[in-house]
Amino acid sequence: MNSAGSFAPDYAAARALFVEAAAAAGGRLERLTHPERGPDGASLSCDVAWFGPADAPNVLVTISATHGVEGFAGSGGQVDWLRRGEAARLAPGVGVLMIHAINPYGFAWLRRVTQENVDLNRNWIDFSAPPPRNPGYDSLADVLCPAEWTRQTRAAAAAAIGAYAGVHGPAALAHVLTGGQYGHPSGVYYGGAAPTWSRRTQTAILDNYLRQARRVAVIDVHTGLGPWGVGEQIVTQPRAAPAFRRARAWFGAAVTSTFDGSSPSAPLIGDGLAATPALLPWAQVTPMALEIGTLPSDQVVWALIADNWLHARGDPDSPIGRAIKANTRAAFYVDTDDWKGMVAAQYLLACRQAVAGAGRRRGGGRAGEPDA
Ligand SMILES: [Zn+2]
Repeated sequence: MNSAGSFAPDYAAARALFVEAAAAAGGRLERLTHPERGPDGASLSCDVAWFGPADAPNVLVTISATHGVEGFAGSGGQVDWLRRGEAARLAPGVGVLMIHAINPYGFAWLRRVTQENVDLNRNWIDFSAPPPRNPGYDSLADVLCPAEWTRQTRAAAAAAIGAYAGVHGPAALAHVLTGGQYGHPSGVYYGGAAPTWSRRTQTAILDNYLRQARRVAVIDVHTGLGPWGVGEQIVTQPRAAPAFRRARAWFGAAVTSTFDGSSPSAPLIGDGLAATPALLPWAQVTPMALEIGTLPSDQVVWALIADNWLHARGDPDSPIGRAIKANTRAAFYVDTDDWKGMVAAQYLLACRQAVAGAGRRRGGGRAGEPDA
């Protein structure tokens, strides 16, 4: 089987492949319609498929397109897993919940963000409290989203970013730029002012499908960070946290943490994986991001800054708009068979490790036996 055939050229084709493969694998499907439409006017949805017994205590949850345009990889991994017949090989007591395109708007429009211009992985904060402040971002906000996108304004943005890094260091720059901001709705890495449709939908899905679950592994597929084709396993928990230690035991010693500089990801505010245990207080939750590298990180960040400008101030249907959209797609999806093969293989391995881990008990016992 050629894994490249599991990857689709756009959101609509990805959804069709997923629904077809999930139905063929005997999945129980549910369609959750999104309030907006894609660039072609077609409807959008998050699609959910359940495999295994409805009362399964051990569950693997996989999520694609948390960051919209990154959904090419996550969807391809999900479809490949289905086409390989993995659903028929689940052990007794194991279920798999596949969430396809939790941010279908971003996937269809080739944007990392939701229809609210929100980075879904900065949106999982408590909005009843004052949002976190990011004064560093405040100082860069205007230059990052100028009125016009010209050689001069791009140079000014690059100079401002370089000056910030020169004074505060590259780690501080990464933190203010990508760590999340709540003061500039038309800026990059904006966390929003309320829970987005995608967050509300994900919350409802987990609540609807996982009431019976006792051990839950979550794999959320991302792209755009790290070396080309390499799947980094990131846990957004400190190393001392039980969830981090479980992830290491299941996935191996290469698991990194956003808390100690071992991951190329800056420490995040409001990411969905860190929020998941509180949504499932009756279960032991082990969340992990599988982050597949694409292009060098400065190219990825500039693609995002340009895309943000385009949707805030420009015209996506202009020549420069089409060029920016092509750059955004290329920054998060490498359209080659070797890269897709690397995604599919690492995704398959992570899913098998998670299924085995969620079904394993401390002391080496099997699921159903009492904890050591
Ligand atoms: Zn991502």
